[in-house]
Amino acid sequence: MPLEYVKIVLKSGKDQSLKRFHPWVFSGAIKKMYGQVSEGDLVAVYSNKDEFLGIGHYQVGSIAVRIVSFSEAEPKNDFWKNKIEKAWNYRQSLGFGRNAATNVFRLIHAEGDGLPGLIVDFYNGTAVLQMHSVGMYLIRDELVKALQEVLGDNLKAVYDKSEKTLPVKANIQPKDELLWGKPFSNEVLEYGLKFKVDWETGQKTGFFIDQRENRLLVQQYAKNRDVLNMFGYTGGFSVYALQGGAKTVHSVDSSAKAIDLTNENVELNFPADKKHEAFTADAFEFLKDIREKYDLIILDPPAFAKHRTTLPQALQGYKRINTRAFEQIRNGGILFTFSCSQVVSKDRFREAVFSAAAIAGRNVRIMHQLTQPADHPVNIYHPEGEYLKGLVLFVE
Ligand code: SAH
Repeated sequence: MPLEYVKIVLKSGKDQSLKRFHPWVFSGAIKKMYGQVSEGDLVAVYSNKDEFLGIGHYQVGSIAVRIVSFSEAEPKNDFWKNKIEKAWNYRQSLGFGRNAATNVFRLIHAEGDGLPGLIVDFYNGTAVLQMHSVGMYLIRDELVKALQEVLGDNLKAVYDKSEKTLPVKANIQPKDELLWGKPFSNEVLEYGLKFKVDWETGQKTGFFIDQRENRLLVQQYAKNRDVLNMFGYTGGFSVYALQGGAKTVHSVDSSAKAIDLTNENVELNFPADKKHEAFTADAFEFLKDIREKYDLIILDPPAFAKHRTTLPQALQGYKRINTRAFEQIRNGGILFTFSCSQVVSKDRFREAVFSAAAIAGRNVRIMHQLTQPADHPVNIYHPEGEYLKGLVLFVE
């Protein structure tokens, strides 16, 4: 362990999760820090019995250390580059990077790729970085260099979209900006369908890449159905429903900007289409009175709970919107319902949907249980990484 690292010793018993390779140290687990530490510094973590546990980025907050290495060797030389290379090789083994029909994918999924605090999404040559830890922010030049070396000609530009995801109180002034290169195009292809991505002002890094396989499933079931895409954002599910031969598709989102982009995306793929209509509206209002207009409904709301303290309200929210959908969906209808809240477990979500079905008094069969795709891998030692949950339900 290099001498300059501040040593952090955990309270007795608080070493267990790290010994099982869980990469987070909560602030309450810390017994003592030996030395002055600044946010973003690498620190070395030890058990109460002076056993080495790991090296990670220090930050003020509930998660005090994000472990980047469980080995005692100093993370230097090509340490970050090697991790990025592993992430890229893994994506290539999944078929990304040389797939002409899909040029949008997640390149680095934080803990899932051994890089806590770092998200990198790849949009047709542009890597959009979203950093959640000060430690990652401080080494961003090194990360950009490593991305250039590993991706070579595949990489045209790097954009930093971390202004809103870094802690406000840290002594840094993050700014969303182009870090390198010239974006080739903001139009991406997913299973051959075209989408405009606004990584500068859009949500997350610009596109909900995590729903790719679930959108394909909607395509499979959309034929001759009247589809309602609730919380549609830029219309991903709607474009797939049209591709699958839906009779009509209605997209709803409270953001007028998202609705504009939805219309643009539909036009890109189906010029002069007459089957699709988009509405800027509040979901709870819109769902009050949809009667029996739809036989395929997608509910993909934003994370209702960002924190454990709001879990009860979040579960109520899921119950409410699902009840409305169950009450009004046509006989023989299919409901795609999702939760992307990390603090809502698969079981709790299922319970909320179960209650909604019971309140509506419908017969419901579970057709599919959905999650996030392989380019959003879950580190088996970090179950919190499994955040996307979905159920596909046949309703009578
Ligand atoms: N299904 C989308 C992602 C949904 S993100 C996709 O596959 O790309 C959640 C969306 O819900 C956001 O676009 C947000 O603008 C919208 N939203 C948030 N609150 C809303 C509300 N009360 N009514 C309608 N839309 C809402």
